[in-house]
Amino acid sequence: MNTDSISNIGDVVLDGPLGARLDAMIRNHVAATDVDYITAPFLAKTETNGWWQTEFWGKWMHSAAPFLAYRNDPALLAKVRRGVARMISSQEPGGYIGNYPDALRCGEGWDVWGIKYTLMGLLHYHDLAKRLEAAAPNNAADAACAAAAPTAADALAAACRLCDWLIAELGPGGRRGRALWETGNWCGYASSSVLEPVVWLHRRTGERRFFDFASAIVEGLSKPESGPRLVDLALDGVSVADRNGHGNVAETGGAYVMKHNRWKAYEMMSCYQGMLDYAETAEAEGLPAAVAPETLRAAAIASARDIAAEEINLAGGCASSEAWFHGARKQHLAYTRLQETCVTTTWMRLCEKLLDVTDDPFWADELERTFHNAYLAAMKADGSEFAGYTPLSGSRWHGQHHCFMHTDCCNANGPRGFLAYLRKFFVAHGDVATVNFYASARVKAALGDGRAVEFDCYSLYPRAESARLVCRTAGEFALRLRIPAHCTSAAVTLNGAAVPGDAAPGAYHTIRRAWNPGDVVEIAFAMPVVAHVHAHHAAFTRGPVLLSRDSRFGDGDLAEPFRPDSLADGQDCSALFAPAAPPSDDFLACYAASLPLGAHSENPDGALPSTVFFCDYASAGDTWRRGDHYRTWFPIEFRPDENG
Ligand SMILES: [Zn+2]
Repeated sequence: MNTDSISNIGDVVLDGPLGARLDAMIRNHVAATDVDYITAPFLAKTETNGWWQTEFWGKWMHSAAPFLAYRNDPALLAKVRRGVARMISSQEPGGYIGNYPDALRCGEGWDVWGIKYTLMGLLHYHDLAKRLEAAAPNNAADAACAAAAPTAADALAAACRLCDWLIAELGPGGRRGRALWETGNWCGYASSSVLEPVVWLHRRTGERRFFDFASAIVEGLSKPESGPRLVDLALDGVSVADRNGHGNVAETGGAYVMKHNRWKAYEMMSCYQGMLDYAETAEAEGLPAAVAPETLRAAAIASARDIAAEEINLAGGCASSEAWFHGARKQHLAYTRLQETCVTTTWMRLCEKLLDVTDDPFWADELERTFHNAYLAAMKADGSEFAGYTPLSGSRWHGQHHCFMHTDCCNANGPRGFLAYLRKFFVAHGDVATVNFYASARVKAALGDGRAVEFDCYSLYPRAESARLVCRTAGEFALRLRIPAHCTSAAVTLNGAAVPGDAAPGAYHTIRRAWNPGDVVEIAFAMPVVAHVHAHHAAFTRGPVLLSRDSRFGDGDLAEPFRPDSLADGQDCSALFAPAAPPSDDFLACYAASLPLGAHSENPDGALPSTVFFCDYASAGDTWRRGDHYRTWFPIEFRPDENG
């Protein structure tokens, strides 16, 4: 299934605490967005700073359209339609939609980047409108509203005209006399990420000129010496953090240089996402690709594997000041502006795409860890807002105001992240249905022969160590259960009897049989608390969840060190942690831990373990009050004969 599609949205409906958070986010964030405000810049066209006011509408549409497919909301639908009408009305006769004056278009700023999101917004509306047009309106009022709204064809035509304008400006032999990768920031990443919706446009129109433009973008991403070089550097094994500088020569000396720099996490991953879509389309349609599809895939996978190994921390987050920095090995230290929500969301989208492309549950493990930690931590408890940055230790707080607007890139991007999790929750291919994630939900998917399979899922995973799936479908098919790599073992039963075969962590466990409604599959996950010891610091995880101390427990100095040699890396600490009742409803999970903390172990009483409390990282500090703070990495004392 193409990950640009909204076709299976609504087939998975979350219940329980996670469903409540999703509903709150749709209600308080997506549906509460002021569409006139985010479309006003397109009508005013007054941009002179080279900024990115034109990304907000497209990002919003990229979540609003799927969430309209998830939850029927007439008020949100009316807003979406009004926004699209305003966008189309802002289109110039030549096709341009944006807010830059002609002299500044396709230049150093974020104009092409904005066009990328406008194309995405129009194409998502196209898919939504097509779905609604195929369904009969419920009543006369709906029919009247639909009749006044832009049609799917209107949105597609506007997207084609905008892309044609871009081709005329920056395509081969274009009016601007420069290649697309030479515009914008970050060595061409930002502008080149328009590749993704250009491929989507080709898929929806079948027009060869859009595929050819995509090929030109892929050329720019892979071949020029001073360009992004997303293929050769990846296949040569150059870590994403080491690809810096013009011509791959570091020139920044630590400065935040925007033009010739390959370290920007969000934009780089966005380009790989587009390359994967391009490779998929070239292969499926037998079209001549600028670079062989298997080479593009290999480069994207090598880079994503490098990100997982070198950059992703225990919260599944990454990047400092939005840049790659070998962050996995530095996660115990205080780096600036950690885990930008845009990076978190884009990593989840890339993992979703890679799971689709490779069928390797490794990417589901990565997506799950990021979702339950960095992502949910960035979302305010009521879903109304996303943080710009989310440190591993510190406090939670609002993002910036960008481009003189009362929003920012992260607030606009946040809701898209939830979709990556939702779309891959339960999927089907051929005669195999796959459960990738565990939560309380009603799920259905269509097998290759069109049969629908449905299950009811009950689980408080990752707080709980079990999941229960009740079949609602009769017939023969295979059910694949993803056994998370985050657990040490799993036991699977069917109607109370053990299922033969090894349910190995990090793999799919398959049950193929003739199913009956009411069949019950139960999975028990073993998820010990594990210590992580790195560079004289310690942290703890349980299953996919990073544990955190929180000042709301009032249990002393959060930075209190552990005694020397008191913990080993990988140590099973389950005996030291016991589940505890949370002090308030705003914690998902709490534990009382008896740990070798403190600097007074020479005293007989001081040598005893201290009882302190932990919660899941996503719950830590989520009051967004500056006085509440939390910590995930804890110092370990040095002995006098050690060098600090
Ligand atoms: Zn951002």
